[in-house]
Amino acid sequence: MTESTPNLPVSVSVASSGVNTGDGAGRAFESVITTRDLSVYYGSYQAVRHVDMNFGKNRITAMIGPSGCGKSTVLRCFNRMNDLIAGARVEGTITYHGQDVYAEEVDTIEVRRRVGMVFQKPNPFPKSIYDNIAYGPRVNGWKVSSMDDVVEEALTRAALWDEVKDKLKESALALSGGQQQRLCIARCIAVQPDVILMDEPCASLDPIATSKIEDLMRELADDYTIIIVTHNMQQAARVSDRTAFFTADVDDEGVRHGRLVEMDWTNKIFTNPSDPRTEGYISGRFG
Ligand code: ADP
Repeated sequence: MTESTPNLPVSVSVASSGVNTGDGAGRAFESVITTRDLSVYYGSYQAVRHVDMNFGKNRITAMIGPSGCGKSTVLRCFNRMNDLIAGARVEGTITYHGQDVYAEEVDTIEVRRRVGMVFQKPNPFPKSIYDNIAYGPRVNGWKVSSMDDVVEEALTRAALWDEVKDKLKESALALSGGQQQRLCIARCIAVQPDVILMDEPCASLDPIATSKIEDLMRELADDYTIIIVTHNMQQAARVSDRTAFFTADVDDEGVRHGRLVEMDWTNKIFTNPSDPRTEGYISGRFG
């Protein structure tokens, strides 16, 4: 998956994609990432079973469900972060703009540039604010006419520029948690991804910092496809266009396996879900 690889956008309508059409019927979208019969193993343990999903371009999709049902595991497949976990293995297919993410010839560095990731705990490098943003373009060896402009643009898009423009040479570690998380989003943006994966990005933040990140996500959706794992149902309801609800089934040996229950437009999931398990979770009856 290199710059020269032609992107062949896969246009699917929700109605033909195999997911529940709900009240989004007729709202077609271009699918950026698709999974088919995706299962993920850690050693012999099948953590997630047979997941079929579509993630629409410039949509925010939230993945919700009880702890341990495989949401982060699935998220990490999209940019092959699970490759870094010994024993992790994927079965089934994941495509990105129609290309098999797990094909042998795929350059995982390039996948992770295009499909960026923001983690639960902000993880700025122990460098200056400026160098955190410039890091990606530099290691990619990009010839940019002005690194200052690259840094300013990324920080502006991450709604952080006004707060840091006078202290770009100061350590990123001196920023507040919320600022650090927006810095990590800016660092991700600086290498020009088109998908941003967010794994509980507000879990360590206070309500004000959380609200800033949520506002930012809505702005970023104009330019990026966003997939967020959140344990916060209100957050999913506030920010996402589509929601995927996961749960875990227990097999005959008492082993839990994560599975997708349903994926639909967020207002449908929260007001009129198709599956009683979703209803039970949303209403707080289990999970
Ligand atoms: P969620 O994000 O929904 O909380 P996870 O994807 O973290 O769920 O975990 C799904 C299942 O996979 C859990 O049973 C968890 O213990 C297991 N798991 C997650 N990461 C690893 C790992 N690195 N090694 C082994 N098992 C793991």
